[in-house]
Amino acid sequence: ADSAEYIDVVDPGNGQLLTRVPSGTKEVVDQAVIAARAALDGPWGKLAPGARAKLLWRLADRIEEKAEVFAQLETLDVGKPLANSMGEVAAAVEAFRYMAGWSTKLSGETLQVGPPGAMHAFTQREPIGVVGQIVPWNFPLVMAAWKLAPALAAGCASVLKPAEQTPLTAILLAELALEAGLPPGVLNVVIGEGSIVGDALVRHRGIGKIAFTGSTGVGKSIARTAADDLKAVTLELGGKNSSIVLPDADFSKAVPGVLQAAFGNTGQICTAPSRILVHREIVDTFGSALADAASSLTLGHGLNRKADLGPVVSRRQLESIVSILEEGLNSGGQLLTGGAVPSGSGFYLEPTVVTGLGLGNPMARKEIFGPVVNLIPFDSVDEAIAMANDTSYGLTAQVWTQNISTVHLCAGKLESGTIWVNGKSQDIALPFGGYKESGIGLEKGREGIEAYTRLKTVVVTL
Ligand code: NAP
Ligand code: MG
Repeated sequence: ADSAEYIDVVDPGNGQLLTRVPSGTKEVVDQAVIAARAALDGPWGKLAPGARAKLLWRLADRIEEKAEVFAQLETLDVGKPLANSMGEVAAAVEAFRYMAGWSTKLSGETLQVGPPGAMHAFTQREPIGVVGQIVPWNFPLVMAAWKLAPALAAGCASVLKPAEQTPLTAILLAELALEAGLPPGVLNVVIGEGSIVGDALVRHRGIGKIAFTGSTGVGKSIARTAADDLKAVTLELGGKNSSIVLPDADFSKAVPGVLQAAFGNTGQICTAPSRILVHREIVDTFGSALADAASSLTLGHGLNRKADLGPVVSRRQLESIVSILEEGLNSGGQLLTGGAVPSGSGFYLEPTVVTGLGLGNPMARKEIFGPVVNLIPFDSVDEAIAMANDTSYGLTAQVWTQNISTVHLCAGKLESGTIWVNGKSQDIALPFGGYKESGIGLEKGREGIEAYTRLKTVVVTL
């Protein structure tokens, strides 16, 4: 954007200014949509699916070559340890390769209607056209890749809005897309505030679909606004996820598994379990094992190779987490470990395990989005399932048990879009979406690319 206004980009590891980026406006969004439409009406729309696939593979290769640069940018921007950022880059590369493969495999069906020889009816999938994609700050590169890869593989052109706090990797990605040979206009990045740039995308009549990942509140308002011209929407929203630990769980896997799921990315993951439901028989032993493991994690700046856990993304995010935690502690919660904000610069919070609070407490109801978990005992599998389902969200649930009947009972009864048993995976092949107020629609997998297409029915009367 050629803008008068700039946005500060801050390193959350030390609170210092990294750089400033121009802040987009409604007019910039208009320009981006015009560019995207021109690409669709021009070179991009004329490519065979296999040619699109080849360009996306080339983009994946370019990202892979620049993996270190992407990882450093992501670490500086979001705060996460470098090793985690490298994992994020690998996931982004994989997303482009995986979705490139689907470019050539979209198809419709022929349908038998009327007497033989009277009609030829078929369906075909067509790209939606120009799509608006809005992503949050917790995994800026992966979130962008999970949105862009299926959209471009399907033949759409995108206007992507990164979170204003974390725009850096999206800018580099767009640069590499041009280098890889994607025609100008296919991938547009507009940086700016959600209430301005995001809102302009959602209202734009030249955009056929909005794909959004972020908070449930903003997701609902996007759905309302998108209703004005009945744009398609995919909403990947918040979660209040449970991890259920049964007495027969393999502790050697469950303790590090829960630790990683809950505290990875400093707890800033929509799928992070912040309700750890543990069978009463093992709640004390499991609780102290988890607390020990959490307290042994090293906090530090993401570029410090010894750091297991970085800061949270901003001072505002830190304040929001601490206020939910304090509310819990003031109403009877007890700390098993953590709870302190270390002195010094940067937005750090110790990994924190709290017990003694029931499901009614805000700690057990609000999405915390930080390194804080609540340990709650249960007495039966049915009770654990009821507790896990007692939320307006329905994103993920995790179960730890060796009993195959319990596995399938939980898998069937938990009201979540994803159920993880004895581990976790976010592979790009797995369709991902929320039940209840965790979202609408699916991303990733075959469903994820089909979500960027419209199905047309053609009936030829012979
Ligand atoms: P957020 O406030 O909803 O922001 C997400 C994105 O939406 C940002 O790019 C934001 O822009 C933009 N935005 C804000 N207001 C908007 C509006 N009125 N119209 C259009 N766009 C708007 O979410 P957040 O607090 O940054 O991110 C954390 C949330 O994301 C959590 O609730 C988490 O659960 C959710 N999340 C969900 C998933 C999932 O897959 N389900 C994954 C990751 C995160 P600016 O920030 O630049 O203003
Ligand atoms: Mg930042």
